[in-house]
Amino acid sequence: MEVRTRFAPSPTGYLHIGGLRTALYAFLFAKKHGGKFILRIEDTDRERLVNQASEIIYRTLKDTGLVYDEGPDVGGPYGPYIQSERKDIYREYAQELVRRGAAYYCFCTKERLGGLRTQCEAKGKQFKYDKHCLSLAPEEVQKNLDAGVPYVIRQNIPTEGETTYSDMVYGDITVPNSDMEDNILLKSDGYPTYNLANVVDDHLMGITHVIRGIEYLSSTPKYNLLYKALEWDVPQYIHLPPVMRDKHAKLSKRHGDASYEDFIAKGFLSPAILNYIALLGWSPSGNQEIFTLPELIDAFDVSGISKSPAIFDVEKLTWMNGEYIRALSEEEFISTAMPYFEQAIDPDKFDLPLLTRLIQPRLEVLTDIPGKVAFLGKMPDYGIDLYNHKKMKVTPESALVNLKEAYPVLRDLPEFSETALHDAMMGLVQRLGIKNGQLLYPLRVAISGVAVTPGGAIEIAYLLGKHETLSRLEKSIELLKKQLV
Ligand code: GLU
Repeated sequence: MEVRTRFAPSPTGYLHIGGLRTALYAFLFAKKHGGKFILRIEDTDRERLVNQASEIIYRTLKDTGLVYDEGPDVGGPYGPYIQSERKDIYREYAQELVRRGAAYYCFCTKERLGGLRTQCEAKGKQFKYDKHCLSLAPEEVQKNLDAGVPYVIRQNIPTEGETTYSDMVYGDITVPNSDMEDNILLKSDGYPTYNLANVVDDHLMGITHVIRGIEYLSSTPKYNLLYKALEWDVPQYIHLPPVMRDKHAKLSKRHGDASYEDFIAKGFLSPAILNYIALLGWSPSGNQEIFTLPELIDAFDVSGISKSPAIFDVEKLTWMNGEYIRALSEEEFISTAMPYFEQAIDPDKFDLPLLTRLIQPRLEVLTDIPGKVAFLGKMPDYGIDLYNHKKMKVTPESALVNLKEAYPVLRDLPEFSETALHDAMMGLVQRLGIKNGQLLYPLRVAISGVAVTPGGAIEIAYLLGKHETLSRLEKSIELLKKQLV
């Protein structure tokens, strides 16, 4: 039997981290077993639809490499893969369930239901539909239907007994039938609810393993009653632990918690995000933490899925992102970093391989790049206090002396290469009988204007080029002269 899993998001906005994890696990499980991964868009809650949300889902899955074998925009033998295009199918099965006694037409008005709700609340009970319409005579039902009275179709849950199934993560789940209620399967607008649509589609699409969030764990017995009524095989279930913001609060779309796109915008790399979320609720058997997608497929195993909530740890993700940044080749780094360079400098003016060597090793998120290189584009205003360095015995006064010595040496350099700069500065240090730092530290401040730079004075001078280096140095000497009188 071929394994078939599906990711079934509702198009209500950006793909949130928990949703992407569900997609990832469904993908990994299918691929691990040589099976198919299917995308289905669950858009039957018409009020929650968001424009373009499906396109965001397609794009995110493609960007992250979670390639689906069947889906709305790629087709497949079990389409359509968008629920709003399957309305007739749901109606047909809702009617079949009515014929089999597992569902019934309900014509109750809002007013009646409102009254019922008030009664339940007055008794301190949770609202539960009272099966009023289950006892309507068939002729009455037909009369109402012929007269066009609005209706819904409700599931007819047995009032006694219990329903049990075995989840691959959480084990046996048993729910007394009296705890369930006769939920609506087909709404008055003709759209199915999730309760009906997930069952019909998972069956018709040949889904063998349903992988989804824990919020469906305890309602699954209700869905299983529908499978039973239709004489269909119940799929295997893999419910996933929640992803929490902290010990108390769940990450949730409605609270505006982080989506995949948010993290991309914050400078995280797609494979790093995917790698991190793979470990949110699943532990590999060994100690390996950095996984490529093919390695994840290989390592993934349902027995490693945890029952307890996973806490989203941004620090860990940030660390992992740094690892991914460092693993990029020079060429990959430059093209990934380019939009961030462009925010602060004109990249054409700089030696990008050198810049890469200087910033790639300690970078954690791409959005830190502009801040790190901005001084190259424009010398910031700075105070001469910056020249004070106790350990190196540098003061603004000593800086001025040594910078004045450095200026003509740099000006007269015939070639402004890294080696030439290095040799010239080392020569000067010797001639002045000072320590390297006593020249290089003030020089770095004088041409960068910032306390912390990627790389030292020589590299920065080389990156800036002769003209810019001399012009900055001159201004800094002027500043020191002015402030020291
Ligand atoms: N549309 C549901 C959701 O987004 C899918 C649940 C499922 O995977 O069955 O939560």
